[in-house]
Amino acid sequence: MNTERYHARAWEPAATGGSNPTDFVSGVVYRCVVPRTQIVDPHARDSAVVACCLAAGAVSDAALSDRRKAAILMDCLGVLAAISPPGQVMTFGQFRAGLTRPLRELLPATIDLGSTGDVVLLDAEGMLSPEAEDVCHEHFIGCAALDQHWSQARVRAEQEEQRLYLALRDLGAVGYTRARELLTDNPAGDLRTLRRKWDELWPRFGDYTPISGWRWAQLNGWWFACPSCHWPMRVIEGDRLATVRCDAHDLRGIRYTAQTDNAEGKPPVLQPAGRDAPPVAGQPATSDHLAVSRSVWRYVTLPGVLECELRDHARGLGAQVEMWPDCDSYDVLIEVGSKEWRVDAKAWASPDRLADAFRGKSTAVPLYIVLPDHQQCACTALDEQLRAQGYRVRTAGQLMDEVGREARKTR
Ligand SMILES: [Zn+2]
Repeated sequence: MNTERYHARAWEPAATGGSNPTDFVSGVVYRCVVPRTQIVDPHARDSAVVACCLAAGAVSDAALSDRRKAAILMDCLGVLAAISPPGQVMTFGQFRAGLTRPLRELLPATIDLGSTGDVVLLDAEGMLSPEAEDVCHEHFIGCAALDQHWSQARVRAEQEEQRLYLALRDLGAVGYTRARELLTDNPAGDLRTLRRKWDELWPRFGDYTPISGWRWAQLNGWWFACPSCHWPMRVIEGDRLATVRCDAHDLRGIRYTAQTDNAEGKPPVLQPAGRDAPPVAGQPATSDHLAVSRSVWRYVTLPGVLECELRDHARGLGAQVEMWPDCDSYDVLIEVGSKEWRVDAKAWASPDRLADAFRGKSTAVPLYIVLPDHQQCACTALDEQLRAQGYRVRTAGQLMDEVGREARKTR
């Protein structure tokens, strides 16, 4: 991981004014001065920049209550505190006042922000400057983040997804398709198998980490792959009985129970407890059993599983199917006769976020956004919301019905 070293310093006034909180409104900003070496993760620095933008977005919103503004500012100040030297974090007043000054004055002075450091987020009237939106775009989030006052968690999720796909595209067209297939089919497993499957691409992608470090996925030293997505299932230990379920597929009925007093050296036996729970054998949670990071699973593996299910079903109907054409301008191209469906599968935990994600975007050729079947309720509303922009929203089942009807017509 890239890190940058900087000399952290004690905060001292960088502009004229006293220490009374009301002075902060006039622009007193503290910058640091005691040399000390500290390592800053560039992601943490970027999060701090975005936190400043979100704070400015909140302050500039006249419709937002003071209470909500204060809560958002505190949330953002927490992000800045994480990269500030211990004991030298800005006060709330300093932070708020600093939003009308160049961005570099809000971050420890030795962090190099380049020209971004010159950006002033709030103008003299307290309005959000156009540059603030540019900064957000450069950090992988759209203007919706500022208008809707996204939480830090939501920003991080959005950035993580964008970063993952940028890194995947760096692998080139062939590597991209191959890596997406591998991350879909092999999000967890033993090192030897993973090495063999990935071949020369190993370990360039996926953030594979030992499952032995994931207590939440273990029962007496064993882990269990979800039969649908193949990533480790969550273990919730009870007194004598544990529940084992997939975080994504529990709703679909992938859930088991297991006795916690399994014999030494033998994996606990899973008993189906959900309506869709085929047999699963335990695997040793040793250091050579690895799994992709939760973000990779969430943003690459899960949509991949949905896409591969669509692919298999459509091919079964006699359709022509192409996966991840053009490095992911969309995910699956399904063709039956002269009709085609360009599909973008979305396995998000919260489909409500989707309307925001597609805000301001449009497509000339209809793009089908496909959600898992259990998100049918969200589907109709989203379809109405996004139709004018060229999108159609369907569940996987609905799309397959459409493809099936077309396939019958062409026979
Ligand atoms: Zn699963």
